[in-house]
Amino acid sequence: MCRSKGLRITGPRRIIISVISEMADYPDIVELHRRIQAVNRRISLSTVYRNLRQLVEAGMVIRHTFEHGRSRYELAGRLHHDHLVDHKTGKLIEFHSPELETLLDNLAAQHGYKVVGHRLQVYVEASTAADPQD
Ligand SMILES: [Zn+2]
Repeated sequence: MCRSKGLRITGPRRIIISVISEMADYPDIVELHRRIQAVNRRISLSTVYRNLRQLVEAGMVIRHTFEHGRSRYELAGRLHHDHLVDHKTGKLIEFHSPELETLLDNLAAQHGYKVVGHRLQVYVEASTAADPQD
């Protein structure tokens, strides 16, 4: 995929992509760097920054920005999903709702448009009535 995007496959880039593809919890760059260093200690934070920027520009990685906190990263090309964001802990919960997608399609159609893409972040906090699942 790197090749088709015109990006050279360097050692650090390979490690960064493999670490991102294995993580399910959308770490920020500091945590990402920590995990990358567990694979190769010599990869610096600035190398991770530079490579992430290039991967985002090439459309291979999605950068999520939230109301507070650092940006977090996800490999592109996965099945469409939206996110609940626990605004206290920053925890991300993926969801996919066909009803919601239909609602958005209808909403756009009412205004003479069709949806070509969206990214939804719903800020939530654990309800006191229910035990928050982990
Ligand atoms: Zn959606």
